[in-house]
Amino acid sequence: MTSPMFEKIALVGIGLIGSSLARVIRREGLARHVAISTRSAATLKRAEELGLGDSYTTDARVAVRDADLIIVSVPVGSSGAVAQEIAPALKPGAILTDVGSTKASVIAQMQPHVPDGVHFIPGHPLAGTEKSGPDAGFADLFDNRWCIFTPVPGTDAGALERLSEFWRRCGANIDTMDPQHHDMTLAIVSHLPHIIAYNIVGTADDLESVTKTEVIKYSASGFRDFTRLAASDPTMWRDVCLHNKDAILEMLARFSEDLAFLQRAIRWGDGDKLFDLFTRTRAVRRSIIEAGQDIDVPDFGRQAVEHPKGS
Ligand code: NAP
Repeated sequence: MTSPMFEKIALVGIGLIGSSLARVIRREGLARHVAISTRSAATLKRAEELGLGDSYTTDARVAVRDADLIIVSVPVGSSGAVAQEIAPALKPGAILTDVGSTKASVIAQMQPHVPDGVHFIPGHPLAGTEKSGPDAGFADLFDNRWCIFTPVPGTDAGALERLSEFWRRCGANIDTMDPQHHDMTLAIVSHLPHIIAYNIVGTADDLESVTKTEVIKYSASGFRDFTRLAASDPTMWRDVCLHNKDAILEMLARFSEDLAFLQRAIRWGDGDKLFDLFTRTRAVRRSIIEAGQDIDVPDFGRQAVEHPKGS
């Protein structure tokens, strides 16, 4: 085993993302000591039962003391309060990062609390499932997925490279972009699909002419693939919607225009328009498979995602 990259890593938040990090840090030997902190005694107890770290506390300030790397993995709406709480206990020279799904808001919330001498590098691993909590994590979660950094002006190049190397050892590929661009990109590739899924599943749930039993019985016709996204954590997604409001509203406006185009083509029997669009979108799916971001199996990769190797 190579020598650990960090003496002490503190994981603040130990849900799906935090516990996946704990597992891969252990597997790859990336830290001599992993300190775990979470808000509730119940989650902390579960993390301890799972043996995810070396020390456990509900006091985030205790966990981050002397840590060289601090990873905050809590819902984005809580990142400001967490930063404020841990700031006085951060060690000069430490790297402070997060995994939040929105970036401009997280930076606005966290940066004002970051003490001089601490390297704050916002990050977002584009990897996840609809599950949450410490049982949901697995060491392979970040394999061949992207981790995007949105560095603030004046970021120390050495600290950024160290954090990049950490994520590479967790299995991820690295990209950097500015926070606004991140938020706009994620609005279309992640946030809008979730909102559409929440909406369609809600609509089906409200229908009176089709019974709930029928919706479930015939779900393999397409509906069930939306239900996976719509089963995602309500707290996390409430916060994403509230903290990436402008980009999401922009994408929703474009989506509505395109939906109206589709609606019109159906109303007027314009088969060519429908066929052209469906041909174009099929090619997008092929590109995703070719880029190694999904696998070409009939169940949309669900089996492979739920039973990853080494989880
Ligand atoms: P999760 O499984 O629900 O875990 C959330 C963690 O945050 C738990 O340790 C929880 O503590 C803690 N927490 C919840 N509310 C808090 C609050 N108000 N103050 C302090 N701590 C709080 O969530 P997750 O899926 O790991 O998501 C964590 C972060 O990763 C989010 O910012 C999310 O946007 C981002 N992310 C998620 C995914 C995904 O697919 N899930 C992908 C990429 C990035 P207790 O259980 O002790 O209350």
